[in-house]
Amino acid sequence: MYELKIITHFAAAHQLRDFKGPCEHLHGHNWKIEVYIASDVLNEAGMVVDFAVIKEKTGAIIKEFDHRFLNDLEPFKDRNPSSENIAQYIAERLSSELNSSTIRVTRVTSWESDTASATYYMPTRTMEAVREV
Ligand SMILES: [Zn+2]
Repeated sequence: MYELKIITHFAAAHQLRDFKGPCEHLHGHNWKIEVYIASDVLNEAGMVVDFAVIKEKTGAIIKEFDHRFLNDLEPFKDRNPSSENIAQYIAERLSSELNSSTIRVTRVTSWESDTASATYYMPTRTMEAVREV
């Protein structure tokens, strides 16, 4: 099994609802996002997929978050813009755009500081379902 990882960043503000603690107040983070792509086969160029493709697709999502108040954005209108939910949103959206019969997004890690991160793992049955079709 091969695994690729790309790292990207965005800066944004958020405010956690229904939460008692410092994060209930408006504040910002410089998030670091790690995207993992796996495959058990390589293409003719000896790659899982071009890093540029992963960076471009991830960058398009990140661009919607960068320098914004995340609570105002559609994905976080009904759920908190926590690092957990940010990781899940990016993982699911990237999966729908990048997954194929040979590659899949396996997980996304969202770092809100140097010492705190949340990871969302995509269910593996997604890939099996693709293969069975
Ligand atoms: Zn926060």
